[in-house]
Amino acid sequence: MLALGRLLELTLAGREPDEKVQFTADGARLRWLGEGALEVTPAKGLDAGLDLVLSAGVHGCEIVPIELLDQLTQAIGRGEIRPRVRLLLLFCNPPAMRQSVRRVAEDLNRLFCGKHANGCSDEARRASRLEALVAAFFREPGRRRWHYDLHSAMRVSKLPQFAICPWVPDRQVSSESLMRLRHAAVDAVLLQEKPSGTFSAHTATHHDAEAFTLEMAEAPGGVWPDCLSEFLRTAQDWIETAEPVPKDSLRPLTTFRLAREIIKRSERFVLRLPADIENFTPLSLGTLLAEDENGMRWVVEERDARILFPLANVAIGERAGLIVVPRD
Ligand code: ZN
Repeated sequence: MLALGRLLELTLAGREPDEKVQFTADGARLRWLGEGALEVTPAKGLDAGLDLVLSAGVHGCEIVPIELLDQLTQAIGRGEIRPRVRLLLLFCNPPAMRQSVRRVAEDLNRLFCGKHANGCSDEARRASRLEALVAAFFREPGRRRWHYDLHSAMRVSKLPQFAICPWVPDRQVSSESLMRLRHAAVDAVLLQEKPSGTFSAHTATHHDAEAFTLEMAEAPGGVWPDCLSEFLRTAQDWIETAEPVPKDSLRPLTTFRLAREIIKRSERFVLRLPADIENFTPLSLGTLLAEDENGMRWVVEERDARILFPLANVAIGERAGLIVVPRD
């Protein structure tokens, strides 16, 4: 195993590797670019023309995606995965990962697309650094560009794995990208309809990458559901540009759009949903979701509505949940 295959260990220990560049037995080059960042270049003649960014740890407490990226990085370091694409592997928020917290100061996934510009937090500096790393990585024109930013919703979901597709002006998500998500065992995709400051929104809008935020399935009690292994196999296929194994029964992929955001307006805000309600739980018409000052009530008015990211404990002005509906 190459020392650089242990990128996660190096990152958590805050150590610089002795050798910044190493080669696998097959001639793939691993280059350490700084804390949490590794570039992989395929051996001569093997490059299939794809630049692929895989990132995790934007939120430091989300363990499953960090483990997934670690497994892929180690497999490359051991020569078990033979890259035919250029890769940028990123553990995004090392200080938060070390403390196992979502954020040290600010939410890193709100600070991209230049929104870090006036900040001086750890996360603002890191957003700027990550933007510079992807800009350097995506420097060659004419190559295909993908970015999958791995997260964990930290809540069980009726649809175990789902993707968030950032909004890009004048661009529709392609059927090939949606098919790729199905092969990666993703059950649902939320298509955003307005700009945001997430990492995937940044690579999609500023580098024209096919980019998604992926909310990976939970692994309760350390037991990994099959869909996580399916994702790992698919990610390996991407890196080796292997044709995906045809599956007789690819799971269906449902597309959703945001109907409404539930915003906490005052200290009197109360979320009227069970604390452990699963993501994508169907909501029937007329259900009371939340109450706020001056008799304000949030009631379900949308057909086939489902709840996403419910969270009672947010600051005033922040969102306490999303109401999503099927796209068609
Ligand atoms: Zn996250």
